[in-house]
Amino acid sequence: MKRPSWLFLVALLMLAMGCIGGGGVQYTLTVEKQGQGTIDPTVGIYEYGEPHVMTLTATADDGWIFVGWEGDVSSPANQETTVAVDGQSVVKAVFAQQVSTLDGRTIVVDAGHGGRDPGAVGTRGYQEKDFTLSVARQLELLLNTTDANVILTRSGDEFVSLAQRANMSNAAQADFFLSIHANGHNNPEASGTETFYDGSWRAQQFALDIQKDMIGILGTKHRRVEAWRGLYVLGNTQAPAVLIEPGFVTNPTEELLLMDSAIQEELAESLYNNIIRHFGKK
Ligand SMILES: [Zn+2]
Repeated sequence: MKRPSWLFLVALLMLAMGCIGGGGVQYTLTVEKQGQGTIDPTVGIYEYGEPHVMTLTATADDGWIFVGWEGDVSSPANQETTVAVDGQSVVKAVFAQQVSTLDGRTIVVDAGHGGRDPGAVGTRGYQEKDFTLSVARQLELLLNTTDANVILTRSGDEFVSLAQRANMSNAAQADFFLSIHANGHNNPEASGTETFYDGSWRAQQFALDIQKDMIGILGTKHRRVEAWRGLYVLGNTQAPAVLIEPGFVTNPTEELLLMDSAIQEELAESLYNNIIRHFGKK
């Protein structure tokens, strides 16, 4: 293997990336030699571990370039890293996410409760319906940056029946139905994060990933991820369907977390990333 006479590379690594759930976020890979323009690399190996860890090996046609990179690609947009090559050269890797991967997909975002139905109410008076709408509206903004067809079952503080919610999804022949809730319990010590899905494999994969992410954001304990078609919107929607319960409004500690606008934003971003990962085009 020939040693490089030039020590710096700039690599734009945008990888064609299949995902665990069978959806896909599209990336392409180009590698640029300093002063020599773009070369055409051969991507040798890229693979995925848990959770969202990818190892990349790229070999250029002149034989010497070896890029070994490993990192968390759970939020790959504009991610940048530098790695050593042969102990001396430097490669800068920038992950750029394409935003058109939801082209043609119909995503229903269901903010639980509303209007005369407040949902769970916390000791500070915070209402579940306000949390669900806030996260749903922020998720809508993110999804609207893509080519997805986004449907909110409610976009204001109004009562919408469970049947209406499911009907909206079915009439639109949605590709994914996401219901946003927060938990409630008579015992204020009840706490933790749980996610339910309709029993389908794709919804299960989404549920497992979003559960992990929500626990990371909130610092809550894991309660369960379960198929539960007894929940009306999970049993009566034709699309793969997931219902999230990030935390308990009735738990004073978790109520504070759920009220926090920065946390709401993080939850919306995580939902957005997981929708692209699991329901984006291959
Ligand atoms: Zn609820």
